[in-house]
Amino acid sequence: MANIMGLNLQVPLSQIKGIPPRFLKRLEKLKILTIEDILWHFPSRYEDFSEILPISQLEPGQQTTVQGVVRDVKLKRSFRRRFVIVEARIADNSGEIKAVWFNQPYLLNTLRPGRMANFSGKVSLGEKEIYLSHPAYELIDRRLTQMGTQMDADVGADETQINADVNAYDTQNADENQRESAYKSALISETRHTARLVPIYPETRGLTSRGIRFLIQPILKNIGELPEWLPEEILKKVGLPEINQALNDIHFPESEEAALSAKRRFAFEDIFLLQIFNMRQKLKLAKEKAPVIETNLTELKKITEALPFKLTLSQKKSLWEIVQDIGKPAPMNRLLQGDVGSGKTVVAAVAALLAANNGFQSAFMAPTEILARQHFQTLKKLFPDFNEKIALITSSESKIFYGDSLESAVKKADLVKKVESGEIKIIFGTHSLIQKNIKFASLALVVIDEQHRFGVKQRAELLKNHSRVIPHLLSMSATPIPRTLMLTVFGDLDLSVINELPENRKGIVTKIVDPINRSLAYDFIRSQVKKGRQVFVICPRIEPSANNEPAANLRISEWQKLETKSVMEEYEKLSQKIFPDLRVGMLHGQIKSKEKADIMKKFQKGETDILVSTSVIEVGVDIPNASIMLIEGADRFGLAQLYQFRGRVGRGEYQSFCFLFTDSAAKTTNDRLKAIVEAKNGFELAEKDLKLRGPGEFIGQKQTGLPDVAMRGLQDFELIKSSREAAVEILGKDKNMKNHPLLAEKLTEFEKKIHLE
Ligand code: ADP
Ligand code: MG
Repeated sequence: MANIMGLNLQVPLSQIKGIPPRFLKRLEKLKILTIEDILWHFPSRYEDFSEILPISQLEPGQQTTVQGVVRDVKLKRSFRRRFVIVEARIADNSGEIKAVWFNQPYLLNTLRPGRMANFSGKVSLGEKEIYLSHPAYELIDRRLTQMGTQMDADVGADETQINADVNAYDTQNADENQRESAYKSALISETRHTARLVPIYPETRGLTSRGIRFLIQPILKNIGELPEWLPEEILKKVGLPEINQALNDIHFPESEEAALSAKRRFAFEDIFLLQIFNMRQKLKLAKEKAPVIETNLTELKKITEALPFKLTLSQKKSLWEIVQDIGKPAPMNRLLQGDVGSGKTVVAAVAALLAANNGFQSAFMAPTEILARQHFQTLKKLFPDFNEKIALITSSESKIFYGDSLESAVKKADLVKKVESGEIKIIFGTHSLIQKNIKFASLALVVIDEQHRFGVKQRAELLKNHSRVIPHLLSMSATPIPRTLMLTVFGDLDLSVINELPENRKGIVTKIVDPINRSLAYDFIRSQVKKGRQVFVICPRIEPSANNEPAANLRISEWQKLETKSVMEEYEKLSQKIFPDLRVGMLHGQIKSKEKADIMKKFQKGETDILVSTSVIEVGVDIPNASIMLIEGADRFGLAQLYQFRGRVGRGEYQSFCFLFTDSAAKTTNDRLKAIVEAKNGFELAEKDLKLRGPGEFIGQKQTGLPDVAMRGLQDFELIKSSREAAVEILGKDKNMKNHPLLAEKLTEFEKKIHLE
């Protein structure tokens, strides 16, 4: 986007004279290439140095700014420790104080005796007196306009002389005089490192906040007016600052409120664009053609009555919503949400059966091969009389199940042919099913398990019109998605919720186990295994961390108390020391998928008693005989994730248990874990997690296509509500953005970003 005067946002930073090449290289690594990139590189926080105190009033521990004259500067060397110290005395009307810096000898060039400067930092207590330790400094006398040495220090490295004068920021077609005066006044009247709220930028190797501030402030002063692309009535209604104000305030705010306001605006921007994007996707989809899957009610009844159990009310309700959708000639795009074990698969499977009865194909996709196989087996089990062919295709196996309970392995190529001919009606696989260029003869329904791993981009991709008709899409997720995310990141989806567990499912007894009771937990495990039950042990890591001492010669009682947090250590400990008589298995992400499948199969068949695993078993695995879930280092996991783990047990008829181990004594950790113990449902936890850990716990930044500020904005329900209202309003009045050309341009940029990532 061009601006009205001054620098163009698209001007590469490399065209600006005076920026040291090394600095440019480091910026490049951060993908900061243009003026726009650097201006949109936002601080992660601010330090408040706005109070200027007289030296005589300073006290140890204060964060403050001192304004004074440099009296005396000297360089000290510590040969033994190999560093240099710059020591200066600073004086104001009230007194004098020492300031010290380590390993910045070039400060001698800048902080010369007689210079007037601000020093912002912490007041420390030395042996004899208080002093300023490593304060940020800023010359404030008029001679500052000669800023070569300043830049040298600012870049914070060993650049030598840098010829950066007031013309430094000149670019080709700019009004030099105007630029120059703006630049001078920027330098003189405003501080950027001291005596204010000082922006702190995300840490990056070799790029200091000081360096970034140095670059940003004069650019900000020289870009002129940026055009406002958010409609004025929206700004007013939501109470957001206008773009130029916001940009200035996010970097150099006058107050905390101004900074917050600016952040709010930038968060709003992207969330608002995402809302419009999703709403438009929805509108677009409604115009597409989809196969009509008709439902004969008697038949539906027959299918559900043949099930080995009665569907719960919310299963029925969800199924009905789906039946309605797939009966329409426009593609369904629905998310089926329900706790682990709530019975989502059955609901989806019935829909697939209906599709098959109409002569159509369905594809079931799961995030892992284990789950794909499990779905395949579930279907065989639930509908033994289904007399169409179903198939499983993964990287390690391909097989067909014929309705007459025969299962046979076939060559992958043959299977693909049978899919292409339409002979196979339901096919199970991993998410790569759709990427594998398998041509379906008549694909009408796509079911995706654990949808939350799928981002905005993937969904858009799925629904791209490759052919004339688009299949109905049913996503399933056991991760309770907070409402705010549902309305934004998943705003293009319709929602069905299964909010109850099948009857006669017992609650899971959940306990936070004090480390001293570790051996009691092991005794309990042994008694459960003796009764024929199975156990999951989840660890946060695969390999031991480097600083863990190997516990070579411990006695058994000591082993029982030993905390390990890696699968490998835990496996060794349990299989050799604690339960040498039991069958212990190990599963983690570094094991090849074929082998992983075998390990899982063994556990499913009951040939392993205890499975030590990382979070790879996180989703969907159904093992009714498993009754204990033991989680090591529980504090390392998010609430939603812990909730998922716990859902791995309690799927059968047995009373199940979940033990949370943590060595963190912090009260906050304990409170967090207590939330799991007390949780009635996953949604509550999801909201809590969103507050505590941010949206990243649910969805990766890559999947949303949203920048940092907007990701954080996803926690702000008010903001989301207003962005949604604004989007509805704009789309209602101006669907094609004819009257909002700048907004239309932004939207195109946004869509491009989502599709490119
Ligand atoms: P999830 O929602 O986690 O995918 P599943 O569909 O895997 O849950 O169902 C978990 C288990 O509960 C399966 O063994 C399934 O056969 C069983 N199940 C599903 N619905 C019911 C029901 N209404 N009554 C009893 N058992 C059910
Ligand atoms: Mg499932």
